[in-house]
Amino acid sequence: MKVELIDLKKRYLDEKKELLNCFQRVVGKGSLVLTDELENFENKITKYTGAKYCLGLNSGTDALMMGLWALGIKKGDEVITSTISFIASAGAIFHLGAKPVFVDVCDDLNIDPDLIERSITSKTKAIMPVHWSGKICKMDKIKKISKKYGIPIIEDSAQGIGSYYKKIHSGNFGKVSAFSAHPLKNLNALGDSGFLVTNNKKIYEKVKLYRNHGLKSRDNVVLFGVNSRLDSLNAEVLSFRLKKLKNIILKRRKNISLYKKYIKTNKVQLPNDSDNSYDSYVMMISKCKNRNGLKKYLNSKGVQSLIYYGTPLHLHKASKKIGYKKGDFPNSEKICNQVLSFPHHQYLTEREIKYVSQCINDFYG
Ligand SMILES: *Cc1c(COP(=O)(O)O)cnc(C)c1O
Repeated sequence: MKVELIDLKKRYLDEKKELLNCFQRVVGKGSLVLTDELENFENKITKYTGAKYCLGLNSGTDALMMGLWALGIKKGDEVITSTISFIASAGAIFHLGAKPVFVDVCDDLNIDPDLIERSITSKTKAIMPVHWSGKICKMDKIKKISKKYGIPIIEDSAQGIGSYYKKIHSGNFGKVSAFSAHPLKNLNALGDSGFLVTNNKKIYEKVKLYRNHGLKSRDNVVLFGVNSRLDSLNAEVLSFRLKKLKNIILKRRKNISLYKKYIKTNKVQLPNDSDNSYDSYVMMISKCKNRNGLKKYLNSKGVQSLIYYGTPLHLHKASKKIGYKKGDFPNSEKICNQVLSFPHHQYLTEREIKYVSQCINDFYG
């Protein structure tokens, strides 16, 4: 049996008719940038998340950079973030001229709130928690710190669509929040896409200008901006897929409980919701003994698995250049040697999950 981690080919076959309808509807109109489809999608996201404002952008990375820019982050500032994330969290900070200040993680792979305060200096201008794999960080504690020091929060909610903390949707804990609609996220476009949400009207208006060259109208530029407008075709596809998101997340969560039923070894620790959180499980990140051996074994049995990620952010060459080294964040370094993701997408059958589980049991047995 062959079991793949990524479901995009199956998804295309499943959605072919609706996707072609989107294509015809949007492309047939002859107008593809800043159209009603974009505004329509943004309104749907505000309804879904409960945030007041949304702006469709070219990527989650753009959303992070523009969010930081809107908070006024500039050269010489420091922004606190997690060592376990996709590199874009740190890259966005660096590209505004600021320094990413890493903080170690808890066992849930998210930033440890108890280690944040000691990293605050007079230069700290924002705290960027990352809701890794769609598990929302311990936001009560982080919000308390933010309030105590008057430092704003920007959520890296790239994986946070459909995730809740104490029944509040991600994106409502910071001053501004960045989401990604990259093909491998739960709400995914046909290519790179992203969006930002905020409850702050000033931030909304600033970024709205910035994403479109600072154009107040066709011939009136009020500030120098960039081009980062979610295109109309992807906006329409995302509106269509948003309707299916709740069920997709439910199916993924159900698949994880099936794995829990069939995996009979304590050498693999499957992910759990934390107290107060409802996780969207973009990836099913498990912690495994002899991770590399297991990965190799699964591969020989036709089962695809992936490591998200083997290197904590502070150990990349780029981070070493700004002064980080091995040993700085022991918990992250330990966890990055254990993590492995098995297939858990919505098109998996119970038979496939049984097979993968059996392979895992055999490896340790
Ligand atoms: C995917 C991701 C990003 C970047 O989003 P893009 O849309 O790929 O630019 C940033 N942070 C995290 C945590 C992500 O998972």
